Amino acid sequence: MLEFCPKCEGLLMPKKQKSKTVFYCPHCGFEQKPKKKTANDYKVVWKIEHTPKDEIIVVEGPKKLGKKDKELMKEEMEDYYRSMLEFYPEEGD
Ligand SMILES: [Zn+2]
Repeated sequence: MLEFCPKCEGLLMPKKQKSKTVFYCPHCGFEQKPKKKTANDYKVVWKIEHTPKDEIIVVEGPKKLGKKDKELMKEEMEDYYRSMLEFYPEEGD
């Protein structure tokens, strides 16, 4: 379900653009318009919560994902956000 950048193989992030959702690569700026079905399926809410001790990242995946997929996705997103937060420590919502 996750989309990867064809240029640098980074994980593409969903980005709302007007009424539609596109995927973009934070690493190289690549943008990809998803297929119609993908846009609807890819309703994901990501929350990043900070605690004084550590970063806790909660990932709520698409409803269609199974438990295993969610766990996998969560692990990937945790790693991904860790690297992202290092690059953009001040970026909020
Ligand atoms: Zn890229």
